[in-house]
Amino acid sequence: MRDFVYTSQPQRVVFGAGSLAQLGAEIERLGARRALVLSTPEQRGQAERVADLLGAQAAGIFDRAVMHVPIESAREAREVARRLDADCAIAIGGGSTTGLGKAIALDSGLPILAIPTTYAGSEMTPIYGITEAGLKKTGKDARVLPRTVIYDPQLSRSLPVELSITSGINAIAHAAEGLYASDGNPIMDLMAEEGIAALGRALPAIRLDPDGMDARGDALYGAWLCGTVLGNVGMALHHKLCHTLGGSFNLPHAQTHTIVLPHALAYNAAAAPQAMARIARALGADASASAAQAAYDLARDNDAPVALRDIGMAAGDVERALDIALHNQYPNPRPLQRDAIRTLLQNAFDGVRPG
Ligand code: NAD
Repeated sequence: MRDFVYTSQPQRVVFGAGSLAQLGAEIERLGARRALVLSTPEQRGQAERVADLLGAQAAGIFDRAVMHVPIESAREAREVARRLDADCAIAIGGGSTTGLGKAIALDSGLPILAIPTTYAGSEMTPIYGITEAGLKKTGKDARVLPRTVIYDPQLSRSLPVELSITSGINAIAHAAEGLYASDGNPIMDLMAEEGIAALGRALPAIRLDPDGMDARGDALYGAWLCGTVLGNVGMALHHKLCHTLGGSFNLPHAQTHTIVLPHALAYNAAAAPQAMARIARALGADASASAAQAAYDLARDNDAPVALRDIGMAAGDVERALDIALHNQYPNPRPLQRDAIRTLLQNAFDGVRPG
């Protein structure tokens, strides 16, 4: 058995179809009485439902969460929280809304109760990101880790099929990189493999029947496991590349992860054979397919984008992305080699199936 360090994080998770009904009791358990409800404009309806459920425990709704947490919206939300004398933030939505809650918590220490409606996994991590003057800064702080998470699969039923598939593969990417993390541990490995397997069977089922509650439940369960991995161990080349592509070229988060993952796995394959075997097994790949090919096939067979050129990247951006991605060094199973990463990016740009 290898040596490892494992730190468990103090969080309460409530999981189940209909578990939103437990919100009031969970707010009381946090000792809060005036919750500010956060959402994107598109999810205002769900935020109103939450506020209705809370009645007098709701201080108000702030519905202007946007992707990548611009500093201006973080400041505005912090000000609203102060003005309303909120003692807790409830984030209902995906990573963008949870991220806004984290920006409030970082400033004020308010506890966050997260109700995730995508599979991005931010609710399980102490990682925050705030974008200022076009640059997204990320950091880690225990204050931003949501204290309570309510996973109610009924709330993810309205997530459009394409975003369900790409968001699910975004979650798989956390677990895949967790399996070869330099600070990995056996508990995270178990969660990672189980999380990939749950999403690997749920996503095709969601495409066939977006309202099917078994598949929605499996996907959210997988998202919880994969998000936990993201919150516990360090990520590598894949996340670094996606951060660069999202932050510097404004590419959509979940789709970018979906497209890059097979190529990042192919890059690391020879340096992390055990992790690759676990990923391929979890995805139910047949003996002739690698982990990289299984990740590619999962996207392609479920009508997700497979080429960066199809989601808004320009051919001339490949070289600049390479420069930015190689600016800092970080742990990765295979050393960072400029020419090989250029090939990786070009393959992701063109959408070719890994060989
Ligand atoms: P998102 O939160 O931006 O949501 C995308 C769109 O889908 C939004 O319009 C949202 O309102 C809508 N939506 C979400 N759930 C819905 C539902 N059930 N029904 C209908 N519409 C729904 O997307 P995301 O992929 O969840 O999050 C991406 C952001 O989260 C990025 O900024 C990323 O960097 C961040 N993130 C952070 C962490 C972390 O640990 N800090 C982890 C993962 C992602």
